[in-house]
Amino acid sequence: MPHILIVEDEAAIADTLIFALQGEGFTTTWLSLGHGALEYQRATPADLVILDIGLPDISGFETCKQLRRFSEVPVMFLSARDAEIDRVVGLEIGADDYVVKPFSPREVAARVKAILKRMAPRTLVEAPPALFVIDPERVQISYRGQPLSLTRHEFRLLQCLLEQPERVFSREQLLDALGVMADVGYERNIDSHVKSLRAKLRLVAAQAEPIQTHRGLGYSYSPGHA
Ligand code: CA
Repeated sequence: MPHILIVEDEAAIADTLIFALQGEGFTTTWLSLGHGALEYQRATPADLVILDIGLPDISGFETCKQLRRFSEVPVMFLSARDAEIDRVVGLEIGADDYVVKPFSPREVAARVKAILKRMAPRTLVEAPPALFVIDPERVQISYRGQPLSLTRHEFRLLQCLLEQPERVFSREQLLDALGVMADVGYERNIDSHVKSLRAKLRLVAAQAEPIQTHRGLGYSYSPGHA
């Protein structure tokens, strides 16, 4: 249920807004000062802010400007005069909509709905968390948001594969990446590192096979199988 923050110093206007918005299923908080609204939004972010321009402490414009330093929340301005609207549009201070007083509370509620609907797809297409995140300084790799507990060799091996997706590395190249000299058993050595690495990855995602074996060639990281 979307939460709407109403910042308006006239109780009668706030009341009609609260009534109309709650009638549409929104929850509301009413505040009458710009500073208070900023504090509130920092602590408990609302989904949309209805902001009166003429507030007793700082103006709605100033409130919006300060709000934009830490929040992308949609803002709808309430304006007492048409003349103020030119400033809303002209200043481009990050408002999403505005209404001029006197307004119909039901119209405001409908516009609030429209803005939130417009916002919704943005949330939906938000990029999923990266499959792998490499933190070279802490010698740490996360897989699907979970930190892996890797040996130094496993870390280097996985890092090497991740840095060039789909590239097939020979065992010799991987050994090189580990900074280990090739000796008689090196092929089996790499194979056993890959085996234990795969076991650790499976603890996070049992069905995935991000490290692919290429018979007679070596290994690759395949994002399509991760
Ligand atoms: Ca006012």
